[in-house]
Order: sequence, then C-alpha cells, then structure tokens
Amino acid sequence: MVVRTRIAPSPTGDPHVGTGYIALFNMVFALHKGGQFILRVEDTDRARSSKKSEERILESLRWLGIKWNEGPDIGGDRGPYRQSERTDIYREHVEILVRQNQAFRCFCSPERLDELRAKQLRENLPLGYDGRCSTLSRSEVEKRLEDNQRYVVRMFVPSEGPCIFDDMLRGQISIDWGQIDMQVLLKEDGTPTYHLANVVDDHLMGISHVIRGEEWINSTPKHILLYQYFGWSIPIFCHLPLLRNPDKSKLSKRKNPTSILFYKRMGYLPEAMLNYLGRMGWSMPDDREKFHFSDMVAAFDLSRVSLGGPVFDLEKLTWLNGVWIREELSDDELGDRLQEWALNRDALLRFLPLAKQRMETFSDIAALGGHLVSGMLPIQKSDLLGTDKSSEEIIEILQYALWRLEKLEEWDRESIFDTLKGLSEVMKMKLKVFLEPLFIAITGSSASISVMDSMHILGPDVSCARLRFAIDLIGGVSKKGLKRLEKTYSALD
Ligand code: GLU
Repeated sequence: MVVRTRIAPSPTGDPHVGTGYIALFNMVFALHKGGQFILRVEDTDRARSSKKSEERILESLRWLGIKWNEGPDIGGDRGPYRQSERTDIYREHVEILVRQNQAFRCFCSPERLDELRAKQLRENLPLGYDGRCSTLSRSEVEKRLEDNQRYVVRMFVPSEGPCIFDDMLRGQISIDWGQIDMQVLLKEDGTPTYHLANVVDDHLMGISHVIRGEEWINSTPKHILLYQYFGWSIPIFCHLPLLRNPDKSKLSKRKNPTSILFYKRMGYLPEAMLNYLGRMGWSMPDDREKFHFSDMVAAFDLSRVSLGGPVFDLEKLTWLNGVWIREELSDDELGDRLQEWALNRDALLRFLPLAKQRMETFSDIAALGGHLVSGMLPIQKSDLLGTDKSSEEIIEILQYALWRLEKLEEWDRESIFDTLKGLSEVMKMKLKVFLEPLFIAITGSSASISVMDSMHILGPDVSCARLRFAIDLIGGVSKKGLKRLEKTYSALD
C-alpha cells in the first residue's frame, strides 16, 4: 500500500502548536514508510477562515521544518488543495448521495430548528434533527425546489446500534448511532461542511492513514458511513492524544502560549521545537530526550504512541532548546542564527527611526529597545502596581486590552492605536493614564520607545503573551473573576 498522510488545518486562527505536532507525526510516519505527506487547507467555514491565517499557518509549519509533497502552495496531481476551490466536486458528490437515497434535502427553517432544540432541551431529550424532511415525497421535494425554497442536504444515519471501527492506537471503538445526528453535508449556500469535504478529499487525494487529534473520534462514524455510501475503501484511522497543559487541562493559551509564531519570535530553534513535539506521547527506543529529525524518522513506530495525554511543558522545551544551542551550534552558527532571528538590518531599521528621536548616545539603545529582543520581562508585581490604580483596575485594563488585541486582523500601528484608544474612551480614561500598565507589561520601563510601536514590532504573539504574563503577575483572574470581567467588558460598548 502506498502510504499517504495529510495535515488538514482550518485557517481560522493562529498557527497552533497542536497543528505542528499532528503535522510532524503525519510527516514522520509517511517518511518512515516511504510514502507522501500532503497539506490541505480546510477552509469550509467561510466566515471564520482567512487568507492571513492560512499564510501564517503555512509559514509556521515551514519554519518548523515540516515539508509536504503536495499542497496549495506547490500544487500536485490531486489538487486543488484548498477546499474553497473544490466546491463543484462536493456538489457533485452530494448529488450522488441524494440519488442513492443516502442523503436528503432538508427545508426546515432556522426558526424551526431553534424551536426543536429548545423543546429537546426542555424535555431532556437527545439533541439533534428529528428527520421531518427525510420522509418528504419526491414530488413534494420537486415542488419546493420549484418554489425556490432554501435547503441544506443532510445524511441519513442509522437510528440505533453501534458503529464499530478500528483505531491504530485505541483498538476497537464503539459509538452508538443514537448519539449521531443527521449531519448537514451541504449548507444552504451550496458549500460543504467539514465532514463531507474531509471524506471526499481524503478519498480523492488517496489518503491511506487519517492521523488526527482525538477530538475527531466522535465524528468518525459519520465519516465511515460516508465512505460506505460512496462505496470507497475506508482509510486507517489513528487519533492522537491532545496536548495538555502541565495541570493536564487541554492546552490553552491562557496557560501556555499556543501559537507557533510565539516560539519563533521568542528565539526557539525550530529543530529543538520539532524534537520536543516529537516527544509528545512518543519516545525514542533508548528514551533519549534530544534527537534529530532523521533519527525520529528512522526509529518511528506509531503504535508506540502513548495515550497518556502528553504535557507541553514550556520549561522542558526551554531546557531542551538550551541543550540544542550548546550542543548543536558552533559560535559562528549561533551568530548567524541570531542575526537571522532579530539582529539584522531590517529589524534594526524598523526600530531605529523610533529610537533616534530619544537617543543621545549609542548606548541608550539597550534601554530604548532591549525589550524588543527579550522574552518575558523581568518585571515585578510592584512595577505594575506602582501607579495610583488598584490591582482590579489594572487587571481590567490588561484583560480588556488583551481581548481586543486578540481579535485584531491586521497587526499594524494604526489598528493597534485605534483599538487601544477606542478602549480607553469606552472605559472613560485618558489614553495616557490607560496606557500606564500596558507600558510596563509590554516594555518593562517607561524609558523605552512607545508602547504601541513596541507592540507593533513585537507582533501579536509576544505582545499578548506579555499581557497575560502581567495579569498572572498581579495574581491572575479566577474563573469567577473572568465571568465578571466578561460581563463588564461586553457592557462597555
Ligand atoms: N480541519 C480539521 C482541523 O482543523 C481537520 C480534521 C481532520 O484531520 O480530519 O483540525
């Protein structure tokens, strides 16, 4: 069998370390078996997908050293590799299912579906579509289509009995059909849902092994049924364990930076990152912590992945990165890497026009811009509390700013300025007063270049991480506190 694996990111946000981890395991597995690894962009959620996010994901994966044999940027025999460019293919396929009576057009209005859901919740019934349109006669369907009534296409699913399938790591998995909804395959606007597009593409792209995160286990029965409806062979499934925070909760940016670009900006070596991601649930036969990518490929055995919930521990990663720097880079190489990272002419020229206005001697440069090449700053709680604001007020400012900045599509100076100025206005504060805690959180001192310029140069990942770090320094926000903040925040505008 030709082994073909894939990573199928949805471009709806930051490039997540979890995507890097799943991509790595897919790539290593394919290489170990002499197969191919494909990158496919799953942008079926048109409202949440963006070109920017796609670019950032591809850039991050490339930076990590992930290389694909086929993809939207390099093409291949089975493209296009972006789902938004394959709409006709999905429409043709959904028609096959309708013709075979394995899917049906559903004309129910959103209002009816809302009412149905409310009733099911009220009466403690299982949630899901009740099948009303599944029994419409052919002539009734024709009539509604002639009337131009809007519809979605849903798949038929068995109402009871188990769906049993094999998972490479977990053995037999059994999920009751009673829990599976009559999934929408084609949306009202004629575009596919994830489930349809994913199965059609995995088949047409010749994917032999679907290696993905465990959050997709519950979707697998629908996928298997679709393969059966189409009469296609079913790929081998392997659901990898999700990455965890050190407290074992699901990896989240509140507890750990999750964007790959954060690690790039912080000056981690991609080789060390890849090495660390390779240790997520997997280990070398001799258990050594540091290994090269080629060693991982040679020794790889997917069945040895442990399901224990791999912990992504920043301290461990940082330690390993240090080992890589010391053991793998000559002084010359280290110099080159640093230059490539941030000590280059372009980076300097972004900063110098801002520094020049406040510079009296060259040696002022460290105070003005040292924070631009630092990681988390050595600030104390007292630095943040040094103004005449209460810690509650400071947390409000930092948390609200964080929420707004996390939503910014364009990270340019003007957008950052408008966002923060707008926030200070709705909080009824003078901009200068509002910015004080942000200044400390982002630049560490008031002797540096401006906080907005600093954020612009630092980029969203490090800027937001510093805000989170400052919030934690003051004591953090409890779950209850967060609820309260969310309430006052949403009442702001
Ligand atoms: N687009 C899905 C995601 O973002 C891919 C899931 C899969 O691999 O089937 O995770």
